[in-house]
Amino acid sequence: MMIRLAILPLLLALNLSMCKRNESASPKPQPVSPSPAAGETAAGGSHATAVSPAKISKPVVDQTAQTIIFCYHRLVDKIRYPGTEITPVAFEAEMQQLKDAGITVISMQDLLAWKRGEKNIPPRCAVITFDDGWKSQYEVGWPIMKKFGYPFTMFIYTEGVRGGSLGGGEAITWEQLADMRDNGVDIQAHTATHQDLREGHNIMLAAVGGKRTRTKLTGPQYEEWVQNEVVGSKQLLEQRLGIKVNCFAVPFGNYNEHVKELARNAGYEAMFTVYGQPITFTSALDSIGRYAIEANKPKVFADAVKMIGTSTGGATAVAEVGAKDLATQPADGETVRSALPLIRANLSGVGQIEPGSVQLRLSGLGIVPASYDPKTGMVSYQVTQKLRDTSCTVILTAKSEGKKVEAHWTFGIEEGAAGGAAPTRKK
Ligand SMILES: [Zn+2]
Repeated sequence: MMIRLAILPLLLALNLSMCKRNESASPKPQPVSPSPAAGETAAGGSHATAVSPAKISKPVVDQTAQTIIFCYHRLVDKIRYPGTEITPVAFEAEMQQLKDAGITVISMQDLLAWKRGEKNIPPRCAVITFDDGWKSQYEVGWPIMKKFGYPFTMFIYTEGVRGGSLGGGEAITWEQLADMRDNGVDIQAHTATHQDLREGHNIMLAAVGGKRTRTKLTGPQYEEWVQNEVVGSKQLLEQRLGIKVNCFAVPFGNYNEHVKELARNAGYEAMFTVYGQPITFTSALDSIGRYAIEANKPKVFADAVKMIGTSTGGATAVAEVGAKDLATQPADGETVRSALPLIRANLSGVGQIEPGSVQLRLSGLGIVPASYDPKTGMVSYQVTQKLRDTSCTVILTAKSEGKKVEAHWTFGIEEGAAGGAAPTRKK
């Protein structure tokens, strides 16, 4: 997701000056303005009944509403890395399309409040997120969002902020983030160094003095490292900006149960990955999919809009099925050696599957021509086109007795096989 070049001397200089600034900075929590007490307006009522206690029942939320979440990276006039860039013109056109399609852009916090049953949202919504903390998000993206009056969320990896070990001249600064915070922009966590969080993967460590080493961490050393990525990054954002962080975007969508548990224990309310699908009232909060928008794949955006535009407003119930129950191959969280894996899942335990309803999607490829054997319940697909990313998300849907069933899982592809992305610096 990131393509950056290293400029180490500059990094050193910035690091030194940042150390000093760290000491002097004393972030203060933002005062939270209390919401007006319910029932206040009834105080002046002339009837005796006016003193009856204010209603404290939760608002009834529309459980059929749906939200799609978009993930953007850099905004540049000249696209060099289509995977993570978009032109301002194309971005603005997409924001307009949401408006034209009658899709309301809501804030991430409103989405979560709706999931908690505390706040209603319109039937068809979108949430806009920007990943990785690029200067162009502040300078170019934000003004466009202001024009539309759209709220949005920034997912920041702390070492990628200007002055951090991965934050160069194109990186956003802490001052810019503070400005955004002051103007209501939601700022959330995206680790410290933006790497695969699962144990046993190659990790780049930047030692004091800027020296980088690649290593495989295991045991206590891994735990210490991953703790800083998941928990330390949250604390740093909270302290540095005086905010509450409750969302965690997983780099490359690579995670497993252990990482999820760390995140839950750290107080994250929601975890985000990068495969898109409409978010419903019952979608699991620890694996919320986002549509990553790429310059050379405008169809991803169009399809996402269509997805909720033509939907029946969530009237079709979706039953989530665990990947484990389907004995998937590769398993959820597994790392495979080949970029051409065989993908299998067994639907025999799910119930009567309607013929022709089985659909298999792979991140990076979309719908693939999987085969389904009604006798054995086995769905299989042999990948024929090398998977490019170091992780692949599979979404399997089918209809069973009039109900839609859905399973999703993510497996890794060993670095080298997929030409995996190592963290490099924002140049
Ligand atoms: Zn990222």
